[in-house]
Amino acid sequence: MELIKALQNEDELVWINPKYGKETKKMDQLSMKDVEDAEDRLQRFAPFIEKCFPETKEAHGIIESPLCEIKEMAKNSNIGGRLFLKMDSHLPIAGSVKARGGIYEVLKHTEDLAFENGFLTEDENYAKLAETKYREFFSQYTVQVGSTGNLGLSIGIASAAIGYQVIVHMSADAKQWKKDLLRSHGVTVMEYESDYSAAVKNGRILSDADPKSYFVDDENSKNLFLGYAVAAKRLKAQLQKKQIQVDQEHPLFVYIPCGVGGAPGGVTYGLKEMFGENVHCFFIEPTQAPCMLLGMATGKQNEICVQDIGLSGLTEADGLAVGRPSGFVGKVMETRLSGIFTIEDKKLYDYMRRLKKTECIFLEPSACAAFEGPIKIQKYEEAQKYLIEHNLKEKMDKAVHIAWATGGSLVPEEIQTIYENTYFEN
Ligand SMILES: *Cc1c(COP(=O)(O)O)cnc(C)c1O
Repeated sequence: MELIKALQNEDELVWINPKYGKETKKMDQLSMKDVEDAEDRLQRFAPFIEKCFPETKEAHGIIESPLCEIKEMAKNSNIGGRLFLKMDSHLPIAGSVKARGGIYEVLKHTEDLAFENGFLTEDENYAKLAETKYREFFSQYTVQVGSTGNLGLSIGIASAAIGYQVIVHMSADAKQWKKDLLRSHGVTVMEYESDYSAAVKNGRILSDADPKSYFVDDENSKNLFLGYAVAAKRLKAQLQKKQIQVDQEHPLFVYIPCGVGGAPGGVTYGLKEMFGENVHCFFIEPTQAPCMLLGMATGKQNEICVQDIGLSGLTEADGLAVGRPSGFVGKVMETRLSGIFTIEDKKLYDYMRRLKKTECIFLEPSACAAFEGPIKIQKYEEAQKYLIEHNLKEKMDKAVHIAWATGGSLVPEEIQTIYENTYFEN
């Protein structure tokens, strides 16, 4: 296949999903009802979140991020229509998109345990879970997760707040400051020389051996996915509040950096439910770790990894350094995802500097992958074909583009400075 050759070559490219929009047998294990159920659960936990995390006080315990227009960045890049930044980089508690799925999963597990043990009902005020006797109850249990960094931060911080023992299994890509931050919350960090898959595998074995341990499975978890999907309902309300139209004449384009697929997949699932054919979702992956592209384009999903075609899977974008995609997400995306862009590492830093300079906003390199979408969609021939096929070409000056900023606000200042001074040889 020509595409495989281009991937092996580490070429930047766009892959347009040939199955996009096709009718398929309804075989999803999920529905919008599950997303609404997740949203209700987050609402029930809001008084508890507000109590444990004072930074959520203003939003009354709802973990949400701003949507802001970035006109200067758009001007600089010749984007037709308006460009917005969905600032999950500034989500409270975990400073990344993982504050959606990761924290939701911990809360779901907590509610399950509390219900099973008969000390909580749905209509009580969940703030009581912060009392010492409940913290002591939860401290008999352990939560474990494998992570390249940000998922560990979100699961670790949320679990520690409830009172669980927490073990985060971290791959070689994980940044030192993330390990340090977790340890400061009393989290046990186990480090692995190898990549993400190995950290997950060992974490799962250790967790399975302990009946009081719960393993957060980034590759297959429906709960994580649903936590991410809630973002779509919240975004719809945000757009309405700002009187930003999304309809036949005003298409919405959303660009989300992709690792294993859960975060961008969950958000995309929700957005397609909300906006149907008026929203066009694209993922962006590093040229060294295009795992979702490889899985979806070959149809092999999680039965193929980037190492199988000779790529290293190593990238500066630690949040995206995943060699094997989630098979579950790949299948759900089969007819919903419009396409996937790939991006070279060095450009992540260029976009990062440009955003800082034009908008005074800092994002971590992984998150900056999002800009490749709005900037390149008008440039690739395949993407042009997509726009023409879907009658979008003449509507592009009325389009709304959202770059999904997946992380950054917890990056320590001295590390930000190092990033800002990182340049690559050609
Ligand atoms: C985790 C992460 C992603 C991608 O999420 P996946 O669920 O792994 O696909 C993107 N950006 C950042 C900063 C992340 O931490």
